[in-house]
Amino acid sequence: MKKGRVFSGARPTGRQHLGNYLGAIKNYVALQDDYECVYCIVDLHALITLETTRDLKANTYEMALDWLAAGIRPQESILFIQSHVPEVTELHILLSMVTMLGKLTDLPTFKEKAREQPHNINYGLVGYPVLMAADILLYKATAVPVGLDQAPHLEFTREIVRSFNFRYKTSVLLEPQMKVTEAPIVLGIDGVHKMSKSLNNDIELAATPEETAARVMQMVTDPARLRRSDPGNPDVCNVFSMHKFFSSPEEIQMVNIECRQAGIGCVDCKKILAKNINAHLAPFRQKRAEINQNPQAVWDILYQGAEKAHSIAAQTMGEVRAAVGLPERKK
Ligand code: SF4
Repeated sequence: MKKGRVFSGARPTGRQHLGNYLGAIKNYVALQDDYECVYCIVDLHALITLETTRDLKANTYEMALDWLAAGIRPQESILFIQSHVPEVTELHILLSMVTMLGKLTDLPTFKEKAREQPHNINYGLVGYPVLMAADILLYKATAVPVGLDQAPHLEFTREIVRSFNFRYKTSVLLEPQMKVTEAPIVLGIDGVHKMSKSLNNDIELAATPEETAARVMQMVTDPARLRRSDPGNPDVCNVFSMHKFFSSPEEIQMVNIECRQAGIGCVDCKKILAKNINAHLAPFRQKRAEINQNPQAVWDILYQGAEKAHSIAAQTMGEVRAAVGLPERKK
C-alpha cells in the first residue's frame, strides 16, 4: 500500500550533476518505495528564462536518461514531459483567475528573477507559481517533496486551492501536504556557490572517471592552507563536505584528523575523494551507457508516462470544468 501520490518537477537542464543527485534525484528514487510518484520534466517552465530553445530537446533527453539510470522506475512511477499533457495550461489559466496579481509580484522569487532578467520580465515569469500549482493540482498530488527554502512556494499552491474551492464552492482541488526533505546544499567546485551548470562549477554524474578526477582536483580547499605543511580546517573545506557523502566513516575520520595536523596533503585528500565518487557512480554510469544505446526507448518511456499522466489530468479537468461551471463539451 502506497502512502499517497507525490509530484515533483524539474526544468530540463541536461546532464545532471552531483548537486542535482544529492539534492533531489536520490530522494526521488527513495520516494518510490512509499509513494506513487509523478515526476515531470517541466519544459514549459524552462521557457520563462531560456534565451534559446536550441538545446531543449537534447537537455530533456539527457535529464531523463540520468534520472532513469539513477533509479527512477518507469514501470511504477510516471515520468513525462510537462508540455505533453496540455491540460496543465488550461488549469493554469483557470487558477490564474483566482490569483491576485499583487500576491505574485510580491513573492521574493519573482523580485529576485526580475532583478536577474530586467530585460525579460515576461507574463510567464509573473505567473510561474500558478503554473507550478497547476502541475501539482492536475495530478492530485497528496504530497510534494520540498526543501525548507521552497516551503513558501508550496504554501502559495495551497492558498490557490483554498481560493479556487471557495470561489466555486467545491472541494475538487486538494491541498497538497509538504514533505519536507533535508536536501543538502551542495557547493560547486568553487566552494562558494551552489553547484550549477550555468556557473560551470559542477561535476556531472555522467562524466568519465578521468574528467571527474580532474574536476575534483580543481576544487577550492581551505583558503588559509597555503602550503602542504600548514594545518588545514576541514570544517571550511568543500572537499571535506563531499567526503561526507562519498567516503567511508574511517576515511572521513582520517581526513578530519590528519588535515588538522598537516598529516595529509590536499592532493592526496582529493585523490581519495575522486576515487570514491567514481566508485559510487560506477553502477549509474554503466546503466546510463546501456540505456543510452537505445534513445528511442527513453522517448517511449516519456511518451508512455505522458499517456498515464494524461489519464489523471483528463479526469481532474472534467471535475474542474464542472466545478467552474463551463459549458459541457460535446461528448
Ligand atoms: S586536506 Fe582535504 S579537507 Fe583538508 S584542506 Fe585539504 S582538501 Fe580540504
